[in-house]
Amino acid sequence: MSETAGDAKPEVKQASKEVKESENVAEKYSAMTVSKNSEINMGELSSVFSSVPTHKPVKKQIQFVEEKQEFSRFPTKTGRRSLSRSISQSSTDSYSSAASYTDSSDDETSPRDKTQVNSKGSSDFCVKNIKQTEFGRREIEIAEQDMSALISLRKRAQSEKPLAGAKIVGCTHITAQTAVLIETLVALGAQCRWTACNIYSTQNEVASALAERGVAVFAWKGESEDDFWWCIDRCVNTEGWQPNMILDDGGDLTHWVYKKYPNVFKKIRGIVEESVTGVHRLYQLSKAGKLCVPAMNVNDSVTKQKFDNLYCCRESILDGLKRTTDVMFGGKQVVVCGYGEVGKGCSAALKALGAVVYVTEIDPICGLQACMDGFRVVKLNEVIRLVDVIITCTGNKNVVTRDQLDRMKNGCIVCNMGHSNTEIDVASLRTPELTWERVRSQVDHVIWPDGKRVILLAEGRLLNLSCSTVPTFVLSITATTQALALIELYNAPEGRYKQDVYLLPKKMDEYVASLHLATFDAHLTELTDEQAKYLGLNKNGPFKPNYYRY
Ligand code: NAD
Repeated sequence: MSETAGDAKPEVKQASKEVKESENVAEKYSAMTVSKNSEINMGELSSVFSSVPTHKPVKKQIQFVEEKQEFSRFPTKTGRRSLSRSISQSSTDSYSSAASYTDSSDDETSPRDKTQVNSKGSSDFCVKNIKQTEFGRREIEIAEQDMSALISLRKRAQSEKPLAGAKIVGCTHITAQTAVLIETLVALGAQCRWTACNIYSTQNEVASALAERGVAVFAWKGESEDDFWWCIDRCVNTEGWQPNMILDDGGDLTHWVYKKYPNVFKKIRGIVEESVTGVHRLYQLSKAGKLCVPAMNVNDSVTKQKFDNLYCCRESILDGLKRTTDVMFGGKQVVVCGYGEVGKGCSAALKALGAVVYVTEIDPICGLQACMDGFRVVKLNEVIRLVDVIITCTGNKNVVTRDQLDRMKNGCIVCNMGHSNTEIDVASLRTPELTWERVRSQVDHVIWPDGKRVILLAEGRLLNLSCSTVPTFVLSITATTQALALIELYNAPEGRYKQDVYLLPKKMDEYVASLHLATFDAHLTELTDEQAKYLGLNKNGPFKPNYYRY
């Protein structure tokens, strides 16, 4: 989505270039069978990727700040000072890491002040408590059960070791699901050093289980900003070990390497980035001619988008609302602002519970879709006085204004599922005449002088990231995509990828989906030769052009 009409033309041109070249690639690699039986030859894997860079327009400019960054060299238990450059929004968006053993720890000593050793005598890690290993292992085993596609990739490829020699430095949420990814990369031959992309999201016991298995993990729940950069630095700056691949979520690791250790890029074969923020940063670097290695944009692959936005939100909206409010939704009047992927998921889930759902939209196509799906499309002002719940899902700003907050009825629940915390004008509620009452973690009652209360969830930040968990199956899709992107970039012959940002080609997207189909014992229909000819398709995919909207 371009920000101005003037941006629209290059986008269209680029799209047609992409489609044309991707069709050539499909033809070239038509021998590979993926959809039929989910078998893949790892040797063929690298050639299946398109060499077409995709210049998706950047929605939002995220600036790298040039100041020098230093972490505190002599840490004390308390009061480590903040750094001159703030960590990214995604690093501080609170993110709940399940009902985890992590929360029961009452040890206040900073992991940086402890000396810890795993059972093999290694101290090349920094976690909250290495003794929590067993609990972490159980979490990882539970996650593995719903990540069978990634496990099957691990089993299939571990004899070939497609990542032998790969030295991967990773910066992601450190949860049981990420541990399954990291252990898959290790099984495929990689050495890994890992740190957290979010100061709140680490499952401490999982980090210790990884450290016990020999992964150099530097992360714990509740890091300070100074700890955050210190952990990243410990992953990159270590004697006798230099990374040759980066797996990033949010771009902070990439940024650190650019600023502090630019020479490391001489050895880096590629960056795999999964977040919106990190991908925007990469496109900015590319636009400025500063991207010095190939990068894979995992965020915009079709499967990830659909699962993260539509299916994940369809499930986690209810989880987040229930955990915070205990409200029964049958018969309640709900307005969902924005009927894109996230809004569609939220609306469907609430409708299924018997809620009366209204939708607001600015786009006639999405508005018409909402009508076809049985929702009343209204302006927010038309229903503002009668609704019990307001959910914003637009990615826009000031969708719910102070004036509208003033007119809501007593007890109205207000929350946001869109990016960042801009959709509800929360700042306007921080005025002297309104009283804020924290009633639970992530739940505030904002009280007007006449006694009216509005229930604000997660202070307007993403409800599901703040108050619920993300289903493991969704994370399996992302992790499988990340693993394949790393394998591809690591094994690609020199010259296939330039210093640019690439999208996962359709065929690999289809492969990720096909691996997950096995979970449901789903049987795909195979094209006959005659049908394939009639449709002009290769029998093994890709089955849709790049412009196809699923
Ligand atoms: P989308 O672009 O498909 O949908 C957004 C919709 O909002 C569009 O249809 C747009 O027309 C509409 N819109 C814009 N301004 C509006 C306004 N003022 N009033 C009413 N409608 C308006 O995007 P999406 O994939 O649905 O994502 C929406 C937001 O959710 C994004 O910010 C995205 O980053 C975020 N997101 C959140 C999660 C999560 O887990 N919570 C997951 C994925 C994406």
